[in-house]
Amino acid sequence: MTTDRQLPHIAVGGFEVTGLCDGYFRLDGGAMHGVVPRVLWERHHPPDEKNRILLALRGLLVRGRGATVVVEPGLGDRYSDVFRERFAIDRSTTLLGDLGACGVAPGQVDLVICTHLHWDHAGQATSGDGAGALEPTFPRATYVVQRLDWQEATHPHERNSGSYRPEDFFPLAETSQLRLIDGTVELLPGLRVERVGGHTAGLQIVNIGEGSDRLVFLSDLAPTAYHLDLPVIMGYDLYPVDTLEAKRRVLNDVIATGARVAFVHDPRLVFTHVTRDARGRPTVATGSL
Ligand SMILES: [Zn+2]
Repeated sequence: MTTDRQLPHIAVGGFEVTGLCDGYFRLDGGAMHGVVPRVLWERHHPPDEKNRILLALRGLLVRGRGATVVVEPGLGDRYSDVFRERFAIDRSTTLLGDLGACGVAPGQVDLVICTHLHWDHAGQATSGDGAGALEPTFPRATYVVQRLDWQEATHPHERNSGSYRPEDFFPLAETSQLRLIDGTVELLPGLRVERVGGHTAGLQIVNIGEGSDRLVFLSDLAPTAYHLDLPVIMGYDLYPVDTLEAKRRVLNDVIATGARVAFVHDPRLVFTHVTRDARGRPTVATGSL
């Protein structure tokens, strides 16, 4: 029998938090690092022959206060062969498989937090119902999405339309399971989402616990440990200066309180403390969990 002991796990703020992984994919290394030149980032994220870097598709299982919560439903399995090759999708591990290993079936999930609706984060918000239609993957869950993110996702333009697949989220609107929220909202005592914008207008991060006894799921505010450095901002971000200011504010708070962070796309690291390097730049605290 598989147990969740193999998966990364921490207890924080009265919650049990397990790192889930919906597999791996690759995106262009230049686009992932914005204005940072390749000679700097390639040591941290070695590119393949197509200049793509390895990224994980991570989510969290959060249990506590009588609730079962999934942060980020993941990519899922609804993609073509062309799509799989373009992004080198490797689903040797899946979020639903990891959930199953924790003894959690999709029907037991109460809340699904989508940090935003890009396909690499929300692809598995919906699944095929076996009869050609799509339905929510988590049949009882309330899906929590920022209203601004919903508006941006449902009104794409030439710059961001490649990041969305309408079928990932439109079916949610036909159910009573979609909850659109504005700004900072406490979903459960000690579980708080906070809109930070930047990557998308409605990007939200997730605070699990309070103060130092807290884990912050950064999502695409800082998708890998290398992105903790303030000027390392993805070229995909629609509002990069908003990313900069939100990252400065959130990481100042994380470092001051000693809270931990969780990464959505880091290929190696799930949870870590954050410290400053000799030049004052936010960086991973080595040896910490
Ligand atoms: Zn992403």
